Amino acid sequence: EVITINLDTPLYKGSISLNTGLFINGEFVRPQESQDAGKIDIINPSTSKPITSVHLGSSLDVDIAVDAARKAFKSTWGLHVPGSVRGQKLQRLAELIEENLEEIAALEALNCVASLILGKPFAQAKQELNMACITTLKYYAGWADKIHGKTIETNETKMAYTRREPYGVVGAIIPWNNPLAGLAWKVGPAVAAGNTIVLKPSEFTPLSALRVASLINEAGFPPGVINIVNGYGPTVGASLASHPLIAKIAFTGSTITGRKIQEAAAKSNLKVVTLELGGKSPNIIFDDADLEQAIKWAGIGIFANMGQACCAGSRIFVQEGIYDAFIQGFTAVAQHLQANTGDSFSSPNTLHGPQASEAQYKRILSYISSGISEGAHVQTGGEKHSDGEGYFIKPTIFTNVTPSMKIAQEEIFGPVAAVIKFKTEEEVIEMANNTTYGLACAVFTENISRGIRVAHAIEAGTAWINTYNTIENGVPFGGYKQSGIGRELGEYALEK
Ligand code: NAD
Repeated sequence: EVITINLDTPLYKGSISLNTGLFINGEFVRPQESQDAGKIDIINPSTSKPITSVHLGSSLDVDIAVDAARKAFKSTWGLHVPGSVRGQKLQRLAELIEENLEEIAALEALNCVASLILGKPFAQAKQELNMACITTLKYYAGWADKIHGKTIETNETKMAYTRREPYGVVGAIIPWNNPLAGLAWKVGPAVAAGNTIVLKPSEFTPLSALRVASLINEAGFPPGVINIVNGYGPTVGASLASHPLIAKIAFTGSTITGRKIQEAAAKSNLKVVTLELGGKSPNIIFDDADLEQAIKWAGIGIFANMGQACCAGSRIFVQEGIYDAFIQGFTAVAQHLQANTGDSFSSPNTLHGPQASEAQYKRILSYISSGISEGAHVQTGGEKHSDGEGYFIKPTIFTNVTPSMKIAQEEIFGPVAAVIKFKTEEEVIEMANNTTYGLACAVFTENISRGIRVAHAIEAGTAWINTYNTIENGVPFGGYKQSGIGRELGEYALEK
């Protein structure tokens, strides 16, 4: 079923055609009638009105997709195809996305603004699509013919060799906060290594993935190599996690769901599991930091993508000597964003957009209430944005935060910073590590020895020094503790 979305905005004008079905075995199909779960309205978070509705799959559709993916793995993909050929197809897919960049970025910005850098939502959606999706697919296209084993000589007369074999069918489940990065981070390494894949986008943000699905055949992939089944987590997602013929499940989302995925994997066929989960990442600013830089990156760390980033720097520890000056500058950043809030397309001056869904919007507001009732001080923000129907929340800074408060412990996934003052390096390391999460951290200091020392002492998969949210295709990304298992990106994603 093809629908057309007409956009006539100051920043983007155009008609976008989209198939709202499931993409299985190289074609768009309707869900199996006997278990048809109907359709889901896809909401524009700037207006809270539906953009369109798309079909929802069921476990039966997952079975069909897995079957197609297995057949492809055994005949037209896997090690039946030279790595160079797999790479060419991935490269072509990346180029096709690039050729349709404006349109796909418009769909993304309409459904959820996705950007790890601060700024004009539509322009950033384009930049993000390029940096976090197109270049990632190209990066893995480059890897496809460079995956090989080793020779191990055990003595003069004996040697063994290792062979890098794909798993078979990979199941992938991604969240709504950065839909096309999620897609590329899963599809790129899986398909480059010779696996076939069944991917479930978030039920809230499937539009851009469906548009990409329409390019898969043109890129030259045989039917069944990349399948996209939209649907709810407890149905389509759970079926992927428990499917006996899926060899590996790659999940990005909340820690609660990650636990369910691991359980389902253990109970079904002990499939390999990688989990990219939540975070409560500490951003540590020492007295000797370059203040202007620290303020800029702290803003990017917590307010980019409206705080909907797994690696968001949501706990900001500031040393006492620089504290007042930092708060002053950081407040100005939040207020500048508050003054330039709006939808993705109306004005080139817009810097801050809506939260992605009503549920998240309400959840964030309830965390703000909890911060207030636990005695934290609202330095700025602390409420919804007054205009319009959308899910807009003012970039918020809490001061007088103590480490045991809910806003300092739990992942809010919104534009809410909890600032905590500290005195010594030892004290801040202890506080920073006092969390069940361990995805990322940052240290701001002009003393490089201290920067490295503290970065090493923090239990986090990624440690930035004097920067934030800097993610590179070649650098592994993933969590310690309950932030995840396994690593994405780089050659690391090809290893598990
Ligand atoms: P979520 O766990 O609710 O949903 C993520 C995905 O899992 C969705 O596609 C959803 O449909 C599916 N799902 C839900 N229940 C399921 C079940 N029982 N079985 C199988 N699949 C199921 O998370 P969310 O609210 O969509 O996303 C936000 C979370 O994702 C945050 O906690 C954030 O930190 C995390 N996240 C992590 C990373 C990372 O790389 N570490 C990146 C982005 C988001």
